[in-house]
Amino acid sequence: MSACPDKLLAVHALADNELDAANALALEAHLAECAGCRAEYERVRAIRALLADKAAAYAAPAGLADRIGLMLDAAAPAVPPLPAAPQPRARSRGPWRHVASWRWASGALTGLAAGLLIMVALPHPGASPTGLSDQLVAGHVRSLLADHLTDVQTSDKHLVKPWFNGRIDFAPPVPELVDDGFPLLGGRVDYVGGRNVAAIVYGRRLHRINVFVMPSDGAASAAAVTTHKEGYNLVRWSVGGLDYWAVSDLNTKELQSFQSLFATKAAG
Ligand SMILES: [Zn+2]
Repeated sequence: MSACPDKLLAVHALADNELDAANALALEAHLAECAGCRAEYERVRAIRALLADKAAAYAAPAGLADRIGLMLDAAAPAVPPLPAAPQPRARSRGPWRHVASWRWASGALTGLAAGLLIMVALPHPGASPTGLSDQLVAGHVRSLLADHLTDVQTSDKHLVKPWFNGRIDFAPPVPELVDDGFPLLGGRVDYVGGRNVAAIVYGRRLHRINVFVMPSDGAASAAAVTTHKEGYNLVRWSVGGLDYWAVSDLNTKELQSFQSLFATKAAG
């Protein structure tokens, strides 16, 4: 289980004690119910603790800064290699103590760098998704990360529905689900599968649900089908010539009950 992509930066900030009190409280409430974010928080805390306890406790060996400087200057071949600086006599376990600890620290830093790379690589902006569900998950993640969740930001379905007029060539239903704990957050037009599709956005606590709506390709069954992709849940169904995909990091059970409420109220 992985952390919610839209929480990742905040989770790291909390682990670094860099979050203000209000956001820290809200995030801690989320951590209480989200195993993925909690695991990520504990992972970052563990790395921090290791670095603070072990790596920082060792002083850099004498001459290391000079040798790093030489390595950085290595591109200039005119500089002759200097003899290695003499190692200071270690107190108890000999010079290998330094080598081992620095190797350890560099391993930890490499781990941190890899973690950052994973964070940066999350949205896969350059990847070419093969299937529609890949593109929908990418659209969902993009909407959370790029601060582009909604183009029309309102909880009023009477504003969202007409907003789609003229932007897409079909009229998606926008049912009101706030009484069921799924407040409407707004809508936007997304580009998925080579065409413009409607994305209707609902909330559930701190989670976001994108409902992608597009003209049916005839392949989807009327009955809802649940799939999972890259840590996200997708529920697909088809009705009235339109295909619907609800995409979220919300747990399967709640997303399925959202789907059933959406389908019922959209029909009613
Ligand atoms: Zn989470």
